[in-house]
Amino acid sequence: MGFEEKLPGGVLLSSVEALAGWARSSSLWPATFGLACCAIEMMATGAGRYDLARFGMEVFRPSPRQADLMIVAGRVSQKMAPVLRQIYDQMPEPKWVIAMGVCASSGGMFNNYAIVQGVDHVVPVDMYLPGCPPRPEMLMDAILKLHEKIKHEPLGERGRRALEQQGREVPALTGSNR
Ligand code: SF4
Repeated sequence: MGFEEKLPGGVLLSSVEALAGWARSSSLWPATFGLACCAIEMMATGAGRYDLARFGMEVFRPSPRQADLMIVAGRVSQKMAPVLRQIYDQMPEPKWVIAMGVCASSGGMFNNYAIVQGVDHVVPVDMYLPGCPPRPEMLMDAILKLHEKIKHEPLGERGRRALEQQGREVPALTGSNR
């Protein structure tokens, strides 16, 4: 965000952190990005029956520059990995990633050279979602858990230290998925 760098520590920073966490978690805009069958469930989650609008999230953005959440819905092929990474890099900070389904989380049943064995080889993942495919209720549960995580994320120097401790770094693209 930037302004938190200028703030002194203590009560003021805690209040700003709480306010920023609440604002960020209440206004997540996902990137419009579906890769395979899991994307059908993601679309169903945004439609009338499940209604992501209840959480201020119905606006799936067609531009990564307007999105702060990437839901990786489906298996990631080696060919798609650099495209996915480019979209992630174009999203402004702060940003979060949900790996939706076993394929995105670990490659799932596609244990072969064509599929990335977990999207965390390409982008840092905040929430892993099991299932093949996960139902909309499961995606909503993951989103609500991510909201809680965002609400308690520290800002500024403390935030940087927390990310370092978690080892949450943007992975370097290696030969096969560059
Ligand atoms: S987890 Fe299942 S539903 Fe999702 S992309 Fe893989 S095969 Fe398709």
